[in-house]
Amino acid sequence: MTEKNILIIHTGGTFVMESNEQGQLTPGDYAINYISKHIKPLFSAKIDQHQLFNLDSSLFRPVHWVKIAEHIAENYENYDGFVVIHGTDTMAYTASALSFMLKNLGKPVVLTGAQLPLIDRRSDAFMNLVDAIEVAQHSDIPEVMLLFNHTVFRGNRTKKKNAWDFDAFYAPNYGPLLKLGIGIERKPYRIAPMPAGKFEIDTRYDDSVIVIPFFPGIDFSAFTLMVNEKRVHALIIEAYGSGNIPSDNTGLDRLFSDAAANEIPIAVCSQSPVGKIDLSLYEAAAKAKFYGLISAVDMTREATLVKMMIALGRYKKINEIKDFMSANCAGEKEN
Ligand code: ASP
Repeated sequence: MTEKNILIIHTGGTFVMESNEQGQLTPGDYAINYISKHIKPLFSAKIDQHQLFNLDSSLFRPVHWVKIAEHIAENYENYDGFVVIHGTDTMAYTASALSFMLKNLGKPVVLTGAQLPLIDRRSDAFMNLVDAIEVAQHSDIPEVMLLFNHTVFRGNRTKKKNAWDFDAFYAPNYGPLLKLGIGIERKPYRIAPMPAGKFEIDTRYDDSVIVIPFFPGIDFSAFTLMVNEKRVHALIIEAYGSGNIPSDNTGLDRLFSDAAANEIPIAVCSQSPVGKIDLSLYEAAAKAKFYGLISAVDMTREATLVKMMIALGRYKKINEIKDFMSANCAGEKEN
């Protein structure tokens, strides 16, 4: 492997945290020096570090995704690969957003974080970062990836599944791109091809979207009010199983017809992370089909939500939004 230039972008998370006087974890300022001293010397690659923010990722908003995307774009020509150190709580959302915002990405972007801070003697941070720098040098993987516990996933397919174990992420409907053991095992058939077009960013979004997780007895009237007052520009329904929703008259018809009258798109994803939406399978999905709801197919809730924000930012006409949501833009869903 020829010598590479890698940029580490710091955004915060447990990875860089330390305990405060109350014993709570809070962002610390030791990580850049620690990495320079203990991790950079392990590589022949030239490694730079930029600190963009130092936040618990629960504080992230879409504007943070934009700033990360812009920073990658500003530095795109100077580096062969990028590592983004990020809190685990919202990493799957950021990974999804970057995959849509970085268009025609031709270089590796690897998000990683940790369950224990870098300075904890049992931390997973050290290995996660070493693995991430290793993978960021694989210039032929043009993907926004999420690396955790020696496994690399396509970022927009991931979910945080575990708040305790080092094995904290998975991609319920798309197997890993790479496994890191004593060697690096690739799954080439899962890795995106090099894009034909020129790299560019498109960071437009509109975050007036809400997710409605269905549950037995849910009352839809508050959502109908929001739709009619245009306080929300799109809805994501987290339906049961393969897209099932109550088929009796629970107020859902009113919500769907008022949303249609207000040109408010509605996408349906599932509460069951593994599997896909199929609105033809059950009678219980007929209402969703009748009102022209958009099937998220096998997209995660995270990817569906972020993609809808981006769709609203890029398109005004409901048919354009539906087309974008139904297309496979960055490998986030099956074709
Ligand atoms: N609360 C932390 C964060 O998301 C959790 C972590 O990084 O593991 O920033």
